[in-house]
Amino acid sequence: MNLEVLEKNERKLVFVISEISIEIANAIRRIILTEIPVFAIEEVIILKNDSPLYDEIVAHRLGMIPLKTDLEHYNLPRDCECGGFGCPLCQVSLTCEVNNDTNKTIVVYSGDLNSNDPNIVPVHDKIPILKIDKGSKIIIECYAILGLAKDNIRFSAVSNCFYRYYPVIEFDQSKIKDIEEKTLIAKSCPEKLYELSNNSLKLKNDYWKTCTLCKACEDNSSNDAIKLGWKEDTYIFSIESDGQHSFDVLIKKTFDIFLEKIDEFTENLEEIEIQ
Ligand SMILES: [Zn+2]
Repeated sequence: MNLEVLEKNERKLVFVISEISIEIANAIRRIILTEIPVFAIEEVIILKNDSPLYDEIVAHRLGMIPLKTDLEHYNLPRDCECGGFGCPLCQVSLTCEVNNDTNKTIVVYSGDLNSNDPNIVPVHDKIPILKIDKGSKIIIECYAILGLAKDNIRFSAVSNCFYRYYPVIEFDQSKIKDIEEKTLIAKSCPEKLYELSNNSLKLKNDYWKTCTLCKACEDNSSNDAIKLGWKEDTYIFSIESDGQHSFDVLIKKTFDIFLEKIDEFTENLEEIEIQ
């Protein structure tokens, strides 16, 4: 397996992965989308809510706030010694008490949540939760746990994860009959990957980064001047994160889970053989 990182920042990772089958690529994608544990608010106790929003809506909004996650010091409730009842190894409490003693309406943000663990806090401070009028108050107590996106989407570790084929375009300008056809090809590409200058049509070198394999160029050319294809066993992965995990943790955890699943499979297979 070969890996080349094309783009990496706090929120986005794009890489080319080669020499793997599509089944493995898809298994990686599915693990990232559904199996990486992240913290999210599970239980909300509303002691006072003077805002115009119903308690249920406030609870829902709190549940969707992405929280920074620490996998080293916390367990999934079902794997915890407490049996999922809730203890300091599987649960974090967050409280929010805001008293509007100003003369105007104020917004209560995710940054107003106080966590009992400074490592488990909202990723962003400025996510609006609700508004309260002057003289109003809210008092909320919440409990966050680790969970998996396959159980509920608020435990999603990423906002998007997909892969696409690595495009390969065979382009032979000498087979294009006239300037009209060249203009048509250049105009037809939605990603503007062809450049026409001095009657010469050029395909950008890094076309594979943005080509969507839409076939518009192939459909508008004749004499097999353009042939669209893709590389075998090579995929371009894009992952967009909400910030709960760094990409290093996310990728490492993905492969840990992948190997656990293979172990589980071989163990079950051995049991079947013994029977
Ligand atoms: Zn516990």
